[in-house]
Amino acid sequence: MANVVVVGAQWGDEGKGKIVDWLSERADVIARFQGGHNAGHTLVIDGKVYKLSLLPSGIVRGGKLSVIGNGVVLDPWHLVEEIEKLRGQGVEISPGNLMIAENTPLILPIHGELDRARENQSTVAKIGTTGRGIGPAYEDKVGRRSVRVADLADETTLELRVDRALVHHDALRRGLGLDPVDRDALLAALHEIARQVLPYAAPVWKVLNEKRRAGKRILFEGAQGALLDIDFGTYPFVTSSNVIAGQAATGTGIGPGAIDFVLGIVKAYTTRVGEGPFPAELKDETGQRLGERGHEFGTVTGRKRRCGWFDAVLVRQTCATSGVSGIALTKLDVLDGFDELKICVGYELDGTALDHLPTAADQQARCKPVYETMPGWQESTEGARSWADLPANAIKYVRRVEELIDCPVALLSTSPEREDTILVTDPFSD
Ligand code: GDP
Repeated sequence: MANVVVVGAQWGDEGKGKIVDWLSERADVIARFQGGHNAGHTLVIDGKVYKLSLLPSGIVRGGKLSVIGNGVVLDPWHLVEEIEKLRGQGVEISPGNLMIAENTPLILPIHGELDRARENQSTVAKIGTTGRGIGPAYEDKVGRRSVRVADLADETTLELRVDRALVHHDALRRGLGLDPVDRDALLAALHEIARQVLPYAAPVWKVLNEKRRAGKRILFEGAQGALLDIDFGTYPFVTSSNVIAGQAATGTGIGPGAIDFVLGIVKAYTTRVGEGPFPAELKDETGQRLGERGHEFGTVTGRKRRCGWFDAVLVRQTCATSGVSGIALTKLDVLDGFDELKICVGYELDGTALDHLPTAADQQARCKPVYETMPGWQESTEGARSWADLPANAIKYVRRVEELIDCPVALLSTSPEREDTILVTDPFSD
């Protein structure tokens, strides 16, 4: 049996929702391994719309175990709210089908406050945080002052953990002009929420290893995209966690050898939200057209996403850092009707040709895209379910993408509908 990791291979919004849903139907266990309640999936199952931002996609399907791994930062109040909302829609959630790693760090209200205070006061370019406290919670994890799920079970430990965090937070808050933290109120809130969170606490590493030995199929559900990875992304315009596939192992406690297939989700063009370098960005009518055809507006904020041609340099890079076995190429249909299409195949930096994105920010900013032009197609690919349904030029485009990124297409998505998918390689097959 195979275990599959799904990662976004660009800057997020690649269409992971549809593909993860498609795969989760066939998995026994679905595990999240990084990020927080900012994942923002919309799942449509039998006509019902479910919105998830923290819980793994498998939660809405019966008979699956959903797991939140230690690589995630968990807002316990949000967790309870999301569980209640889904229960209201008829989804059954119990410790039998949801487990949360005991070593998961918590997001506290003070993290969100810090996030917002810093972003509002910043005189330098904004990083573009969602203000949900995810970044500060990861800072506390590395700073060894987190309150973790297991700490909720013991009053003395909880007080010790909170006091340790407050030494740091009160000093920061003074500097930012915020009032000191109300310790008693925070402890009372944690006591209150503990009763609702602790039933789900489990040694996830152990459960996953047992499931694996029992031959169960595990799907590791990534959020965001590899170019937002804290180490390999376009720093500092990145997220606060590792997003690349290796995190599936450290973020759940399964060995890297247990991962059989890494599926990179790749959009047939490029988008990015917020600030940061984007060499193949189109600030013209073509970019506008891609954005309109692809409905490239933030699901929560409604903010327009920046759009550009497919950047094969970046995807080749993320396929390498995540060890992608095959990609799911999504939104091919958005490219229908263009006379010609361009693919970024390299960069030019101060007169020198580059085959990768350099790390230095000033160099990234000066990288000029080198394009290859391909003929477009006028036929519709929307809803195509086999290669035979695709125009010859669309097939050529896909083949060229494979060559340039040095990675095969495993799945091809041609509409938001689950069934409108061309399967080339089944990630779950041995
Ligand atoms: P995620 O952030 O990577 O999970 O991306 P989403 O799941 O939010 O996907 C972005 C949007 O693209 C959603 O509205 C999907 O319904 C839509 N989508 C996904 N795949 C396709 C596709 O192949 N074609 C088109 N036209 N839309 C798609």
